[in-house]
Amino acid sequence: MPKSEIVAQLEKIAGKRNVLSTPEDMAAYSTDATWLEGKAVAIVCAESVQVVSEVMKLANHQRVPVVPRGAGTSIAAGAIPEEGGIVLDLTRMNKILEIDQVNMTATVEPGVVTAHLQEAVERVGLFYPPDPASFKQSTIGGNIGSNAGGMRGLKYGVTRDYVLGLEVVLPSGEVIHTGGKVLKMVTGYNLTQLMVGSEGTLGIVTKATLRLIPKPKSRGAVMAAFTRLDDAARVVTEVLSSGITPFTIEILDKVCMECIEAYLHIGLPVEEAEAVIFVGLDGDPQAVAQEVAEAAQICRRIGAFRVEEATNPEEAEKLWTARSVVAGAVGRAAPTMLVEDASVPRSAVVEMVRTTRELGKKYGFVIAITGHIGDGNVHPLILFDSGDPKQVELLPQLARDIATAAIELGGSPSAEHGIGVFKRDFLPLAEEPKTIELMRQIKRVFDPNNILNPSKIFPPQ
Ligand SMILES: Cc1cc2nc3c(=O)[nH]c(=O)nc-3n(C[C@H](O)[C@H](O)[C@H](O)COP(=O)(O)OP(=O)(O)OC[C@H]3O[C@@H](n4cnc5c(N)ncnc54)[C@H](O)[C@@H]3O)c2cc1C
Repeated sequence: MPKSEIVAQLEKIAGKRNVLSTPEDMAAYSTDATWLEGKAVAIVCAESVQVVSEVMKLANHQRVPVVPRGAGTSIAAGAIPEEGGIVLDLTRMNKILEIDQVNMTATVEPGVVTAHLQEAVERVGLFYPPDPASFKQSTIGGNIGSNAGGMRGLKYGVTRDYVLGLEVVLPSGEVIHTGGKVLKMVTGYNLTQLMVGSEGTLGIVTKATLRLIPKPKSRGAVMAAFTRLDDAARVVTEVLSSGITPFTIEILDKVCMECIEAYLHIGLPVEEAEAVIFVGLDGDPQAVAQEVAEAAQICRRIGAFRVEEATNPEEAEKLWTARSVVAGAVGRAAPTMLVEDASVPRSAVVEMVRTTRELGKKYGFVIAITGHIGDGNVHPLILFDSGDPKQVELLPQLARDIATAAIELGGSPSAEHGIGVFKRDFLPLAEEPKTIELMRQIKRVFDPNNILNPSKIFPPQ
């Protein structure tokens, strides 16, 4: 079907004002938070499940690719229209439909911004813990598509742990409902969880019922600076084995600190410290104060030369400044930044950091290292110039070596960002051939015509 006919059909389904097809619109939707691009035929801003269903029926019939899109903050190139087709923007489906205080659930449309949901539930004393650093932009649909994690993962888990039920439009246009408000349910295969992290390749989430928990009453933090990386990493085992469960333990290496200092001048010990650790604690105010003191004591005992404590949310927020600006601060240091996302067993974090540094030197890239060290999630921030052909050629080799290192240490090339386009060549390194074949078969069952976010996750055959 020619482009003009597809656009005309889409306008009939979604209304003229909800279909975009000018070159400017195409440019705006050509990429996500990566630098990779694709060119769509048209963009549909869906306002209802009926529109999503009709668009899928048309696309399936005409064999036109469809890329579901939330805020487009994917850093795996999961939301780019690599094979053209229709970009289905879900951000106008942004209603919080219900906050059920008795069952502690929220039912939302996919375009609800993560931060808006968090604010709404916190107003009634409830808590939605998944907190990707993009939470002020990212949507619940995108979080479900990529099984987003975040800082609070150590204590509270990731998006997967909060998805109870879904409404999903299949590639055929049929609408299914999975799960519900119940916390326990064993009725055959768990399709709700199959959808989480499927990167928009199996179905389009048009409604989600999410589990909420009581809001922690207070928050505190400890910041500790170490001259040796090994001592810094010991904070994790020492704190966790002491009986304290922080919601996060984060790390910033020297390069991160240098970039943050150049940006904010907040007095980080750039000269002396090899790493700074942040421990985040929450719960009852008295317990928080006590655990902050204990965690600070542990840090001193294992060699921290500077330790700062915060026993209430306001102070904790201030202490947290350095960690919260790291991506922006490091990003200023080069034209482009690739955020890597390795997951390793906690015991292997130091080795992963060292290997990543060596690989940076080997390939001639500056790499700043941060991450959720408490759950083994290391984020190397690779600085480069996408206009430099040599760097562009070397970058995939460096990324592959980092992925291989994570796998050899017993981990994964993606902890929370997904595979998308960026890491699809690494899938065979991380998963067995039979496992990948089963995944491909699942994709074929849901999407026999391969129209939904095609080319993502799987390497070309
Ligand atoms: C500065 C920055 C910091 C970040 N920090 C984190 C972090 O701490 N933790 C983390 O996990 N990620 C992080 N990310 C990555 C990204 O923000 C997350 O993956 C987020 O969940 C994407 O949400 P989104 O709404 O932007 O989705 P998009 O980028 O639009 O889409 C993400 C994927 O989900 C699919 N999708 C979108 N909507 C739907 C839907 N309704 N149904 C089915 N599939 C859908 C898309 O096709 C795509 O494959 C960060 C990104 C940036 C730019």
